[in-house]
Amino acid sequence: MEHIIAEKHRGTTEPENLALACPYCNRAKGTDLGSIDPETGRLTPFFNPRTQKWSDHFQLNRAEIKPLTAEGRVTVAILQFNQSERLEERNRLISPG
Ligand SMILES: [Zn+2]
Repeated sequence: MEHIIAEKHRGTTEPENLALACPYCNRAKGTDLGSIDPETGRLTPFFNPRTQKWSDHFQLNRAEIKPLTAEGRVTVAILQFNQSERLEERNRLISPG
């Protein structure tokens, strides 16, 4: 269970600011709130699983998570969703169905 907006940035320990996160995502995100979108160069917040819908921002293409929006792009990039070992792990989970 992790803070979406870190306590350092005045994020609260209330359900609307908490999300389950794997150790890889949690480590990669740290206390960041967003990043620079590689397409627009704009400061962009990460996808917020409490206020946004996953399928509006991402698409699963086999094991690869493809971003559909600026929020999706910065989240995929910083949380390293498509790093090779994570793709292998996702493939292992997908193959048995
Ligand atoms: Zn994760």
